[in-house]
Amino acid sequence: MSAAPLPNRVNIRKAVTRCAKYSGCLGSEQLPQFAALLDPAKPFVDVDVEFGSNEEGQQFAAVEMGARVVLECQRCLQPVHCELRASSRLGLVPGDEQAQQLPADLEPLIAVDEVDLWELAGEELALALPVVAYHPEGECEPPKSGRLDRSDNEERDSTDQASENPFSVLSALLDSGDTKEK
Ligand SMILES: [Zn+2]
Repeated sequence: MSAAPLPNRVNIRKAVTRCAKYSGCLGSEQLPQFAALLDPAKPFVDVDVEFGSNEEGQQFAAVEMGARVVLECQRCLQPVHCELRASSRLGLVPGDEQAQQLPADLEPLIAVDEVDLWELAGEELALALPVVAYHPEGECEPPKSGRLDRSDNEERDSTDQASENPFSVLSALLDSGDTKEK
C-alpha cells in the first residue's frame, strides 16, 4: 500500500486502472506562486493523491493537502502562522457536460488524458487559504508605536447603561434565582 513519489503529470487511465497512490512534498520550486507564503520553517506542501473509480465507473482523484503558511494578521499586522488542511474528491471529466452529471460528492476536475498533480496541489492550497487571518484572541503583538492610554469615558458609559440594558432585564427574567447579585 506504499505510495509512489508525487510526479508532475499523471496519465489518468493508467492511474485509475492501478488505483495509484502518490504522496510527496512540493516546495517553492514546484509551486512558485506560493513561495512567499510558505512557512520558512516548513516550506513545503504535503500532498496525497489516490486515484480510483466509483460504482458508476466514474473516475476520481481523492486529494489531501497540508501546508503551513505565514499570513498577515488583520488585527495587529504581524505575521501569523496558519496550518492549512484540505481534502477533496474530484471527479475526472473531459468537459463541462460530464461535469454537470457528477454526483454531489465529487467536485469536477476537467482533464483529458493527463492530470497535473502540482497544479492540482496549488489549486487545493489556494482554496484552503483563509480570506483573512487573525492570531487567536488575546495573542496579537502589541502595537509598536500605538498609544495605550484609552480614555476612561468608555468604561463609565458602559456601567451607566448596564442598569437599563434590556438584555440584562431579560436574562434576570430567564435565570430564576441569583442573578440580582450581579
Ligand atoms: Zn495579531
